[in-house]
Amino acid sequence: MAVNTTMKGHRLRGGVRPSRTVEGRRVCADHECSTRLSQYNTREFCNQHAPVTYPRVRGRFVD
Ligand SMILES: [Zn+2]
Repeated sequence: MAVNTTMKGHRLRGGVRPSRTVEGRRVCADHECSTRLSQYNTREFCNQHAPVTYPRVRGRFVD
């Protein structure tokens, strides 16, 4: 006797990303920037708006 298992469609939500998309393309998350992001770029901002990490200058303050 085969057990009749009914597959109830559990709808999985596709990954909801905060990134904006335009016509299926990912663009910079900056409101006024429409720079397209490379599909390989996993960041949410373009190069211009990416959070900048300033190189830390250790010690040595030249006066
Ligand atoms: Zn940008």
